Amino acid sequence: MNHISNQDKQIILDSIRDIPDFPKPGIIFKDITTMLSNAKALNTLMTHLEKRYKSYDLDYIAGIDARGFIFGSILADRLGLGFVPVRKKGKLPYTTVAEKYSLEYGFDEVEIHIDAFASESSDGKGAKVLLIDDLIATGGTAKAAANLIDKVGAECVEVCFIMELAFLHGREGFTAPVYSVIALD
Ligand code: AMP
Repeated sequence: MNHISNQDKQIILDSIRDIPDFPKPGIIFKDITTMLSNAKALNTLMTHLEKRYKSYDLDYIAGIDARGFIFGSILADRLGLGFVPVRKKGKLPYTTVAEKYSLEYGFDEVEIHIDAFASESSDGKGAKVLLIDDLIATGGTAKAAANLIDKVGAECVEVCFIMELAFLHGREGFTAPVYSVIALD
């Protein structure tokens, strides 16, 4: 199992910008736009993810709305796989399966197409899927997304994050293994 070198980790970390009090007071927002525009940092990250996951027996990469789409799509193409979006409610046009999750106040909902992992040669049942997002905080969003993969009959092989706010313990409670490139204490 491939883990990232400290040097590569630092290149990525240095390219991510902290924005205090966004979107509300007390939150330090991890802004990955500065990593995306930094060719060396983006390449370092994607090369690490490609090396790690090329030995996994994957059928699809699923990415969470919206920043998971960026990393998930690049990784899918590098691995020669298809990409599946898990979207916020109301965005997908075909028949969907939905999962609610709690927020600090109220709830939100994510959706996936019912036939997201089907292909010409398979109905998608048992498809091996890597789920990816930019950051795990409480883990609510990613757990709901992982449940959707199960609900449509596929298998979530691992859940991958670029960053993990480890002090929030969001990785607890997943049935699939959780991998984060950079854990922040
Ligand atoms: P959670 O469901 O609490 O794990 O929240 C994860 C989602 O919220 C991910 O899609 C993140 O992109 C976003 N998010 C939560 N906290 C932050 C943060 N401090 N900086 C950037 N994005 C965040």
